[in-house]
Amino acid sequence: MKNKTVTRINRGTGGHWVGDGFPVSTLFSYDTQGPDISPFLLLDYAGPAAFEPADKPRGVEKHPHRGFETVTVVYQGEVEHKDNAGNSGKIGPGDVQWMTAARGILHEEMHGRDFTRKGGTLEMIQLWVNLPAADKMGDPRYQEILNKDIPVADLPGDAGHVRLIAGKYDGKDGAAETFTPLNLWDMRLKGGKSVTLSIPEGHNASLLVLSGKVGAGGETLGKKELAQFTREGDTLTLDVQEDTVALLMSGEPIDEPIVGRGPFVMNTHDEIRAAMNDYAAGRF
Ligand code: MN
Repeated sequence: MKNKTVTRINRGTGGHWVGDGFPVSTLFSYDTQGPDISPFLLLDYAGPAAFEPADKPRGVEKHPHRGFETVTVVYQGEVEHKDNAGNSGKIGPGDVQWMTAARGILHEEMHGRDFTRKGGTLEMIQLWVNLPAADKMGDPRYQEILNKDIPVADLPGDAGHVRLIAGKYDGKDGAAETFTPLNLWDMRLKGGKSVTLSIPEGHNASLLVLSGKVGAGGETLGKKELAQFTREGDTLTLDVQEDTVALLMSGEPIDEPIVGRGPFVMNTHDEIRAAMNDYAAGRF
């Protein structure tokens, strides 16, 4: 057993709007950190932000994606999704949307209609997960994973619990099907407790604290702070200082070139040009 240690702490960007619905802070991005965060590409944390009641849903109008997956986890509020493959759905607190764009999808992401009418607090994350070259031009897929369908595992020593969105914890499988080995755990940790997690040697791993305070890998993390850990080591010890909500992401790096532009992430510049041409020609 060897502990993973912190390599870097990200406190997010100053914040920007995605469409008119999502005030986000970017916690990591492949454009500066490709190999260190692979198989993940980007993490945006939206909110928590209060919205007044309104008539027209806010959000992001129809836009394309190719070459990767977008994973949306809602903590507060409501998001509606609609795509050109005929999939649509509404997700609320605890629910997850795992959208595989692969060769191409056009979709819109808006606040839910009820949420829009009543107003309230929105808090969610969107994680971009890369696909191996062999799967980038595969069929699009959409996994709607509701709160009630996400397996829950208790942590030892009454330290809280883990909601297994994807991956494996203590022999239990997560809800989502993934293309490469990765873990996505929504964790609720109890203040004053300590817990040691097993995370495979060789995985890139990050921990985002949404609320609370926790010591991890030699540093202390507060709200909206993300730590990245060494690939070396197969354990991570968390010293929970306050009741904490945290998201753990880990995965086997995809050791392939990354070339991206806006909503397209491929392996070569030619493939990006092809994506732009296909989109312009209405071939999505
Ligand atoms: Mn999108």
